Amino acid sequence: MKLLRYGPVGNERPGALDAQGCMRDLSLLVPDFTPEWMAPQKLAALAAVDLQRMPLVPDGVRLGAPVAGIRQFVAIGLNYRLHAQEAGLEIPGEPVVFSKAITCISGPDDDVLLPPGSVATDWEVELGFVMGRTCSNVSEAEALGFVAGYCLANDVSERDWQMKRNGQWIKGKSYPGFGPIGPWLVTADEIPDPQNIPLELKVNGVVRQSSSTADMIFPVAHIVSYLSRFMTLLPGDLVITGTPAGVGLGMKPPQFLKAGDVMQLSAGVLGTQTQRVV
Ligand code: ZN
Repeated sequence: MKLLRYGPVGNERPGALDAQGCMRDLSLLVPDFTPEWMAPQKLAALAAVDLQRMPLVPDGVRLGAPVAGIRQFVAIGLNYRLHAQEAGLEIPGEPVVFSKAITCISGPDDDVLLPPGSVATDWEVELGFVMGRTCSNVSEAEALGFVAGYCLANDVSERDWQMKRNGQWIKGKSYPGFGPIGPWLVTADEIPDPQNIPLELKVNGVVRQSSSTADMIFPVAHIVSYLSRFMTLLPGDLVITGTPAGVGLGMKPPQFLKAGDVMQLSAGVLGTQTQRVV
């Protein structure tokens, strides 16, 4: 299933894509895709719904992030060798973990606001996943069973705030709008292998990042198991898994986003995003 949320900011309604790729409204059945709806039993109940009988969502509506009420937003850094190299940082011996503020989460095609005074706002196409069940100290072998689904994400980053302002990366990763998620959450039953998803990002039509999740240093199963040793992951928690090479920071000279730029992201079955920078 491809679960989505549509409508104005703060008033999104739940929906899903039908077999023809049309959006269907599910608000008669589901109040919203809050964390408890990520549970395997709830997703199984939704999978049994005949989408053809549900109302069509009008074309042209705004999409929101596909999950509501996310409580933790965790990110993995430097999970692709060439990206670690371009950032001038060492290839990590174990996952680099940081968080993004949940208040940066936005819809897949929402405008990205440059923070006032920002001169180093950058792009990062990534695979994201959402937890379906509470997860603590799980093995790599059982880890993927805790994942509800997968989504496309842009880990928008202010490099000066990330690298030059002391302390944690969270400062450069959390401005409102720095977390476009979606268009859909593709449930895990449709993604038997999360390590085979193409990732691409263009800025103003020029391909800047082109890779595959096959190139990750630490695959999703490892990330889930690893995180679960340090923290309890909750249903609905969102994890993004690192970006491949080709960010603005790695260009010579570095090139960052400016007002009027357009970012286009794609990730195979996970869909596409388009954001205008304002
Ligand atoms: Zn990232």
